[in-house]
Amino acid sequence: MSAQHPILIAIVGGGIAGMSLARIIAQEVHATSSSSGSCYPFSITIFDRDLSPSDPVQRPQGGQLDLHADSGQLAIKAAGIWDCFTRKAHYDAQGWRVDDCNGQMAAQVTEEEGKARDKPEIGRGHLRRLLTQDVETVDNVQVRWGQKVVNIVSHAAGFQIVVGGHEETPDSKVLFDLVVGADGTWSRTRELVSAPDPVYSGMTIVETNISPATESQQTSAMVGKGSYMAVAFNKALMAQRNADGGIRVYIALTVPETWATASGLDWSDPTITKETILNRFFTQWSDSVKNVVRDSKSSEMRLWPLYDTLKPTEGGRWRTNLGATLLGDAAHVMPPWTGRGANMAMLDALGLGKKMGQALSGAEEFDVQQGKAEVLESLRKSMREYEETMWLRMEKEKDENRQSHHLLFGEDSPKSFHDMMKQQALPQA
Ligand SMILES: Cc1cc2nc3c(=O)[nH]c(=O)nc-3n(C[C@H](O)[C@H](O)[C@H](O)COP(=O)(O)OP(=O)(O)OC[C@H]3O[C@@H](n4cnc5c(N)ncnc54)[C@H](O)[C@@H]3O)c2cc1C
Repeated sequence: MSAQHPILIAIVGGGIAGMSLARIIAQEVHATSSSSGSCYPFSITIFDRDLSPSDPVQRPQGGQLDLHADSGQLAIKAAGIWDCFTRKAHYDAQGWRVDDCNGQMAAQVTEEEGKARDKPEIGRGHLRRLLTQDVETVDNVQVRWGQKVVNIVSHAAGFQIVVGGHEETPDSKVLFDLVVGADGTWSRTRELVSAPDPVYSGMTIVETNISPATESQQTSAMVGKGSYMAVAFNKALMAQRNADGGIRVYIALTVPETWATASGLDWSDPTITKETILNRFFTQWSDSVKNVVRDSKSSEMRLWPLYDTLKPTEGGRWRTNLGATLLGDAAHVMPPWTGRGANMAMLDALGLGKKMGQALSGAEEFDVQQGKAEVLESLRKSMREYEETMWLRMEKEKDENRQSHHLLFGEDSPKSFHDMMKQQALPQA
């Protein structure tokens, strides 16, 4: 075993996907090497542009995510943080209500019925903190916060990670053997593997929030502890209870990609801008629905133009076998209409992390006497296998996402959509 030449793995992006991957590799190596008694030396370096795990100024973390039993929850277990997760998760926040534009209820899943869905909600910030907490005490893992990757140069001997805004970093001269791009929608790693950029989906979300102090009784009754949505005419108003007791509001609009600037709206004046949006887009909607937005006295507003990568069969694949791959939104960002982006990111991390951990610890055909080249080949094989499985899964996932978009914003909405949601909410046999 060549202990002098450890395998160096770079993960670009320490979000949900990147942090899950690092933890799962480390857990898998620990679990399998304790029975096989062997492990090839390795080191994982995570680069993230955020200054710290909870850097709200650079990048607000957003609202609640529901983690599903067949994906996100499996990854949480494999990452070794299940107990911490169950302490932070909201099992009573799984109820939801869908109205039409008159505020007439079209469908509802009560809080009690919601519990049977086993999709507990957790604040995105809490999830990130759970994943990052103590990560640097995990063997072989280190995080470089505040380091924005601007380029990745491929050399014959490995990959050079170029970080912006720094003359020299501890890693600027290091060549990494493998690179995983978990750097979200605008991934810099995508170029390295020649993956196409995402395309605009046709919709933009305007996000704001309601503090408990300004929440009306009517809004309170509509949202409860879970989620509320009113949908019609190619647009939606959505509201979701936060872990801190406030409500996050999403206004989803069918608008051109350049709308934020072309609309002439003054984003520095949230009160007027919110009312202008209601007047321009929601004239036919009842006040009971519009008041959800009016309850928001917050100055916080955020724009989320929604993007979609091509499906694997549409050309969304990339060059394989380079020792570099993509994970999570970097691999397959999609609009949140199925609420599964984070769950898919975590399922990617689970699939790839288990395989890489096994390759490093010799659980499969790896022989501890082999050299670095053989272990690297085994790791590249892990990446290829992960990519094939993930592409198959994402082909179906993206079809469902586009179907949801159609049901949600098509002519029959909200009836068509609530039929589908009702179906999904039924306990699985
Ligand atoms: C409005 C909205 C609501 C959503 N709701 C849900 C939901 O209910 N359920 C669900 O499952 N999914 C939901 N999603 C999708 C979910 O948020 C994403 O799929 C998930 O965050 C993807 O995780 P990720 O780790 O791949 O990417 P990200 O969470 O984007 O993390 C990427 C990380 O990379 C870092 N980074 C980026 N570029 C660089 C760089 N150049 N150098 C260094 N670091 C870099 C970032 O700082 C970040 O930490 C929603 C998305 C939106 C927009």
